[in-house]
Amino acid sequence: MMHWDYWRLITIVSISGFVGLLFDQMLLFMFLATFVYAMWLQSIWNRLYEWLKEPKKYDSPSVDGVIDDICREIDRVGKQNRSRKKRLRGYLKQFQAATAALPDAVVVMDDFGKVEWANKAAQLLLGIRWPQDSHVRVNNLIRDPQFHKLLHAPVSKDSIAVVASPIRAEQQLEVKIVNYMGKGRMLIARDMTQTIKLQQMRRDFVANVSHELRTPLTVLHGYLEMFTAESSAEQWGGALPVMQQQTQRMDAMIKDLLVLSQLEMGEKPLEHKPINVGDLLRSIVKDAEQLQHYQQHKIKLELESDKLLLADSDELRSAVSNLVFNAVKYTPAESTVTIRWMVSDKNGCIVVNDNGHGIAEHHLDRLTERFYRVDSGRSQEAGGTGLGLAIVKHILQRHDAELRISSEVGEGSQFSCCFPLLHVLDS
Ligand code: ADP
Repeated sequence: MMHWDYWRLITIVSISGFVGLLFDQMLLFMFLATFVYAMWLQSIWNRLYEWLKEPKKYDSPSVDGVIDDICREIDRVGKQNRSRKKRLRGYLKQFQAATAALPDAVVVMDDFGKVEWANKAAQLLLGIRWPQDSHVRVNNLIRDPQFHKLLHAPVSKDSIAVVASPIRAEQQLEVKIVNYMGKGRMLIARDMTQTIKLQQMRRDFVANVSHELRTPLTVLHGYLEMFTAESSAEQWGGALPVMQQQTQRMDAMIKDLLVLSQLEMGEKPLEHKPINVGDLLRSIVKDAEQLQHYQQHKIKLELESDKLLLADSDELRSAVSNLVFNAVKYTPAESTVTIRWMVSDKNGCIVVNDNGHGIAEHHLDRLTERFYRVDSGRSQEAGGTGLGLAIVKHILQRHDAELRISSEVGEGSQFSCCFPLLHVLDS
């Protein structure tokens, strides 16, 4: 199909030729008409150029023919580009929002180790601010020698170091350098404080359990080595109670460890039931009176409320028994132990009070740690495992309750189990 432009040119040339023929000047007329047409075309090209340069300011030249087709094609490609750009901008925004929300610090560096981009976590963990620190060398911002070594070493799978955070010395960071897109490098830092603490706790725990079990085993071992087949019944007789006591000690410890690990794993579901606190406390007092260390102690029960407590009865009994038995075990003969059940407008508390020797303040925060004892000799003599209060704390945590401890040397101690009102029911 012939294009508009050809028709236009042919028409102009033919008409001008015909008119020229009338004046006997055909060539001149044709030349003039073609010249005017060329000028007009040039002005169209100029308008097209202006429109391309500033599409918002100028309109596209609307002339039928190839120019119009060019304009339409340019318009279509422009629209396509704009929508692609919009989509890319959307992806970029999404990517930046996702990396900004990452809890790990991400710092993109150029091949000279200068900051090109960093997320928000980089400021919190490493103190690297973006855009303020852009184009600053990372090793000027983080001055840890271990980190410098990592930064200058060739990047490999093992390019990882644990360094202290440059802004919070107690925070331990795992820093990793990874290569990306050829020369670029990316620094990723993760807060490892909690993990390192947990690893340390696990190591301490294993060391503590080994130590705790080793002591009674050493005693047993000593006796067994001493005795031969010829040893007299008298010799055996003297040793047996001690050996029995040591095995009981190991048994108690393993039982408590199992209770604690079950609580920690949370495998046993809680069976919440409304519990008559008065009945429970009366039964615990009876058990306490059977303890070997119960020596003319006076146990007082003060029930200030008749409300019920929604809890797992076995676990609640275990927690409160631990506190009441401790109050008997660690106070001298004739001491008074008071157990109260009281409900305020904030919570419901079972409070175990004694007027024993009390506990020095610096021990209070650590009392619920596993194997922590104020007086190790006294605890062992009382058959303690050092795990009782750790168990109490876990049980209360499972009930959204809290263990509050206060004590004064020479005055006595107070252990309160405080439950949220959600656990307190009308009788
Ligand atoms: P244990 O099995 O040794 O009794 P616990 O975790 O129950 O372990 O208690 C930790 C330590 O807290 C005990 O060894 C003891 O020194 C101290 N303690 C607990 N209750 C009392 C109390 N009522 N009065 C004084 N000291 C106490």
